[in-house]
Amino acid sequence: MGLSSLIFRPAKEHGFCAFCRAERKYPSKKHLTVLDVFAAIVLSLVVGGAIWEMFDPRSFVLFTFAIGSGEVFIFLRWRHHMVCRYCGFDPVLYNVSPNRAREKVRQFYEDKIKSPNFILSKSPLLEVYRSQLERERVLRKIEYVKGRQQGGLVPREASKLNPTSSSSTPSL
Ligand SMILES: [Zn+2]
Repeated sequence: MGLSSLIFRPAKEHGFCAFCRAERKYPSKKHLTVLDVFAAIVLSLVVGGAIWEMFDPRSFVLFTFAIGSGEVFIFLRWRHHMVCRYCGFDPVLYNVSPNRAREKVRQFYEDKIKSPNFILSKSPLLEVYRSQLERERVLRKIEYVKGRQQGGLVPREASKLNPTSSSSTPSL
C-alpha cells in the first residue's frame, strides 16, 4: 500500500465476480485513511469547542468516538458490498470456508428464484435456472414414456420386431 492510497483512494473500484463473472463495483476503502483521521480531529475540535471550550481534553473522547464509529461504518460498508448481488457469492467467506460460501450461493439462488424481479433481471444464475427447467422437462418426458411402457402399451416398432408376437405370426 503506497502513501497516496493511505491519504486518498477512489470511491469505487471495478471488478468481476469470481463466481458468475458479472461486472461489479465495490467501495475501495476498507479502513480509514489519513484524510479521515484528519477530518475526525477537526470535527472533534469544532464540536468540543462549541460544547465546552477549544482544546478541552473531553474533545479527545469525541475524537475516539468519531474514529471508532467511522472505522466500523467503512468496514461494514465494504464487507456488505463484497457479496455479489447477482449470485450471492462472498469472496471473503470463500477464503475462510469454501463450503459455507457454496451453501450461501445455493441459499441465494433458492430465495431469489421465487421472485419475479429476479427472473426479469440479468443475473447469470438465470442460465442455471433455464438449464434446470430443461432438465426437469426431459426427466418428466422420460418418466412419461416409462409409465406408458409399464402400463402394458407396447410401442408399434417393438411389436413388429418381436417374432413371437401372435399378431405378427402368419396363420397356416
Ligand atoms: Zn456473482
